[in-house]
Amino acid sequence: MASRLLSSEPKIVIIGAGFAGLAAASTLLKQGLKNVLVLEAMDRVGGRVQTVRPFGTNVIEMGATWIHGQKDNPLYELAREEELLAEEGIHVASCLPGVVTPQDYFFTEHSKLLSSNRVEKITGFFGNIMSKIFSQDFKSDCSSWSLGDYLDQEFEASGLSDMEDAGIVFEWCKRAECTDEACNSIYEFSLNQLGLYTPLEGPFFNCLGVRGYQAILDVLLRYLPVSVLRCKKPVKCIHWTDSPGNTIKSKSHPVRIICEDGEQFLADHVIITVSLGCLKERALSMFEPPLPQEKLEAIVKLGFGTVSKIFLEFEERFWPEDCVGIQLLWDKGPENKDVYNVSKQNEGWKKEWFKKIGGFDMVAHHDNVLCGWITGRAAEFMETLPEEEVGEVCVRLLRNFTGWSISNLRAILRSAWHSNPYTRGSYTNVPVGVDALKEQMALAEPVPSTYQKKKMRPLQVLFAGEATHTNFYTTTHGAYLSGVREAERLLLHHGVSPRL
Ligand SMILES: Cc1cc2nc3c(=O)[nH]c(=O)nc-3n(C[C@H](O)[C@H](O)[C@H](O)COP(=O)(O)OP(=O)(O)OC[C@H]3O[C@@H](n4cnc5c(N)ncnc54)[C@H](O)[C@@H]3O)c2cc1C
Repeated sequence: MASRLLSSEPKIVIIGAGFAGLAAASTLLKQGLKNVLVLEAMDRVGGRVQTVRPFGTNVIEMGATWIHGQKDNPLYELAREEELLAEEGIHVASCLPGVVTPQDYFFTEHSKLLSSNRVEKITGFFGNIMSKIFSQDFKSDCSSWSLGDYLDQEFEASGLSDMEDAGIVFEWCKRAECTDEACNSIYEFSLNQLGLYTPLEGPFFNCLGVRGYQAILDVLLRYLPVSVLRCKKPVKCIHWTDSPGNTIKSKSHPVRIICEDGEQFLADHVIITVSLGCLKERALSMFEPPLPQEKLEAIVKLGFGTVSKIFLEFEERFWPEDCVGIQLLWDKGPENKDVYNVSKQNEGWKKEWFKKIGGFDMVAHHDNVLCGWITGRAAEFMETLPEEEVGEVCVRLLRNFTGWSISNLRAILRSAWHSNPYTRGSYTNVPVGVDALKEQMALAEPVPSTYQKKKMRPLQVLFAGEATHTNFYTTTHGAYLSGVREAERLLLHHGVSPRL
């Protein structure tokens, strides 16, 4: 066991009990380290993974839904070994061009149902462009462009734009991609940085079984003795030591962690796993002395967007047996560039926030529940509205687009990732002009690093979390691997081979 190899047991505090924090803690504990404490602000673990049961006994995922990719995905492996995956063929609420099926019903604003053939021509074309962009050898003269500008150019060049209704389906694809990337507009999202994200081999949308994502969290929690985890412990401030004069060789715990309730903890190392959204809001007040300039710049430059889900439970299912999703095709925008530029300049979008809802999908394990997806500023605005109003708007949209008679709404539940002070959004994106690799590396760099200022006590503050992973940012497995990475960094620092 590692602890037997260590001359003295380092005290390690982990801030946040999402996938990154739990992975870091379980990695350290599995290696025999005993002085580990996890401080979590919320009254639950999981962070941006939240499995709930608001409509009967079956689960709803407020945050992450899928495990993306299979090969070398530690969470897929874990779910497979523990038999936590859903049976194959289960429908995945999606609203994404990559997973459109003939059972998705596409309606225009004038209640016209489009043939699946016509839709498939455009969604298929869109999927091909996206695969091309994601491929390693994607090179384009337009690499400094936004994703939206490039997509528009490809669509124009394809000759498909003359086809009836092609334009509105293409706009839907752009809106859905915008949701996938958690950006406010596809015209703000970097084209050339998209290829940095590495999709793992195997199906992209792997669904979990009846216990949802919580079942994976439960597996990680097995390694954490109850005394290691303290929930409802928001951390306010972290004092670390940056002056060589203060090396304090004798001082074994150079980091002081101060919680909102005044309780303090001393540690040799602290691993911060709070979201990029939280860092954007609080990095300047959270660290004493302030973080290095490069890290502060990275926090500002990388994007962090909001994706929200709106769950609608109806008294009865009103959509046909073969229908798995109702997708909304607007005559114009909001991903149409003209509309976007107009709405950018004034607050008109507040009256039309609902135009960002891509559609409503069926939800696995629920017969009479639909899930609407919305992103960006519109999603953030939606979070401020009374739930009842959001529900009414969604029912009106469904009625107007489909022309069907809609059963009564029994309940509504929407996520609030942006309003939540401990997430402040959903996941990372890369704005136009930002060098993602450079910024993510700056974000992940420990403070002080082992090589920078030799005289200072190194590795006092370490950074994990989805946003710090250079290939798998945005995902649960990226978060998990970032936690393992920082735990292993500490193990190595203390002379323990992590793979022992
Ligand atoms: C709507 C939505 C859908 C998604 N869909 C998918 C998907 O299908 N597949 C996928 O792979 N990923 C998906 N993701 C992304 C995925 O959920 C995240 O990338 C991942 O869960 C992030 O984990 P993390 O540990 O880095 O951060 P978090 O989960 O945010 O954990 C950080 C923890 O720190 C805590 N914290 C914050 N501030 C403090 C403080 N001051 N003191 C103490 N604790 C604090 C928070 O409460 C939180 O528990 C989705 C996310 C959202 C929101």
